[in-house]
Amino acid sequence: MGILVQKFGGTSVADAEKIMAAARRAILAQRQGRQVVMVVSAMGHTTDHLVDLARQITRDPPAREMDMLLSTGEQVSVALMAMAIHAMGHKAISFTGGQLGIHTDATHTKARIRSISTDRIRQALDDGCIVIAAGFQGVSDTADITTLGRGGSDTTAVALAAALRAEQCEIYTDVDGVYTTDPRLVPEARRMSRIGYDEMLELATAGAGVMHNRSIEFAKRFSVPVHVRSSFSDNPGTVISWLPESRAVPVCGAALIQKEARLTVRGVPDRPGAAAAIFTRLASRNIPMDMIVQNVATQGRADISFTVFQEDLPAALRIVEEVGKELGTEGAGYDENVAKTSVVGLGMARQTGVAERLFSALAEKEINILMITTSEIKISVLVDRGQALESLRTVHAAFALDQAPPPMEDETLPAVNGKNDRDRIIGRLHGMEDLVIESIALDETQGRVTIADIPDRPGLAARLFRQVSQAGVNVDMIVQSVGREGKAAMSFTMPESAYEAALDTASRFSREIGAGVPTGEPRVAKLSVSGTGLKSHISVASRTFRALAEAEVNAEMISTSEVRLNVVVQGNEGRRAAEALHKEFAEELI
Ligand code: ADP
Ligand code: ASP
Ligand code: MG
Repeated sequence: MGILVQKFGGTSVADAEKIMAAARRAILAQRQGRQVVMVVSAMGHTTDHLVDLARQITRDPPAREMDMLLSTGEQVSVALMAMAIHAMGHKAISFTGGQLGIHTDATHTKARIRSISTDRIRQALDDGCIVIAAGFQGVSDTADITTLGRGGSDTTAVALAAALRAEQCEIYTDVDGVYTTDPRLVPEARRMSRIGYDEMLELATAGAGVMHNRSIEFAKRFSVPVHVRSSFSDNPGTVISWLPESRAVPVCGAALIQKEARLTVRGVPDRPGAAAAIFTRLASRNIPMDMIVQNVATQGRADISFTVFQEDLPAALRIVEEVGKELGTEGAGYDENVAKTSVVGLGMARQTGVAERLFSALAEKEINILMITTSEIKISVLVDRGQALESLRTVHAAFALDQAPPPMEDETLPAVNGKNDRDRIIGRLHGMEDLVIESIALDETQGRVTIADIPDRPGLAARLFRQVSQAGVNVDMIVQSVGREGKAAMSFTMPESAYEAALDTASRFSREIGAGVPTGEPRVAKLSVSGTGLKSHISVASRTFRALAEAEVNAEMISTSEVRLNVVVQGNEGRRAAEALHKEFAEELI
């Protein structure tokens, strides 16, 4: 008999009636011959209320006690759900995370699942029970209750599906599937019939709150098909699996993080190790960074900018000041009124002009781009928070995301490393959420051009990349940072054969707009680390910086995403950098 995991989010169990409706769905599935495990969230806004309650007591509650508090929300739901099923004449048993055997590390409020012992669940299933599992919680080695981070019930559900080798994991929520962007923000958003793991991972991390990003890591790592659907209708929903909806269109979806903040550390001594010191400290305090951009150094000093969640800004600033004193930097600046808009699509890896199209659309709406980073299947831009929604709507329209893409000609599964050997991966993992690295590749066929002192006004990125594409140059990586006195710096890479054309175009552009004289290198080395969990394991970026620093290699450009981390270094340092990364990630490389 196959196992089905059904997860019900907060709105789907918000009151007694909804709990009964969810119970009926589970009973129906059991009647159809499945063994059913339900994963249940706290009712309605319970978790928010509990967080609020804690804040009324103290601004800085101990993380252990926070978990003790927050886990109660799910405990209420599972008990009521079990009662509902009993009342309908069926067998059910509720379990907390600890009773379920969900073992986690001890990182309170952001714990990671190490292992799941399934004996008790299997026993209950074999006894004919519907098992009701509390989402979002686990237990540490010291028997303390932990929680997995907000939205973590999705992760409980997919992790249980993986551990139980379930046929499928159904996620019942208040939307009828995964949309091209949040339908509450953009009414034209379209429901996708299906989406690939990598696209969903990038979207989830970029702000698509419909799925907890770590749940998709589980799904990908253990090949669990996830079906997102409405608990209030029988609409078909969206299937998340290896199979994307289309490979023909460059962008499949867009996402927004409204509460982002930008931090700039000024005058960092331009020697290997300085950036690593800052990022290591941030990672050790569990502060995730994104959009890391280092300005090319002048007079032995560089400015490093990166973004963090706005809620992490005070802690990040404290760390930057501490480390700044040790390193002798020139201080820090920040902007807490920014938002990050991202577009994601497997198709963009094979199409040119995607970034240009994005920048042009924003330019037309006079939306100024403060920072840019690109990776294979994602482009992110930082904008003023006041223009956040408009930027999301603009990119959604620019890529016609409201229109269904042409159907795929070839419906076969893409060849994905590790797809069919989940047992091998499971066997290798110490913890179920361990970082998995599939490859570390070195590409020595690209050149880099950098333009400094670009005036900070809307439309310049669009203009530059229009000219670059008219010159027949296919751009690969792009990073743009905020500079001093409101001037930006832009670096991009291209095939080495196009280097001269790119440099000429950049020179003309710089003269026209009064930017600095471009510099560049005809052949740089680009290192790409591919895997799963590269972002949610927040130390990956700092470990990369540290490993390169120890090998005396300077990272000139970097972009990080869930599935790929790219670093550009000087051409003659590529091999050394590759060796350093192989050594650093030897444990995680499968
Ligand atoms: P649950 O409590 O069921 O886990 P969530 O609130 O966590 O529900 O997730 C569902 C919400 O996610 C939707 O109501 C929607 O506003 C939001 N959302 C954000 N991005 C997307 C997207 N791309 N597709 C669908 N919903 C999205
Ligand atoms: N109740 C938790 C939260 O609100 C977990 C979840 O619902 O996924 O974050
Ligand atoms: Mg959720």
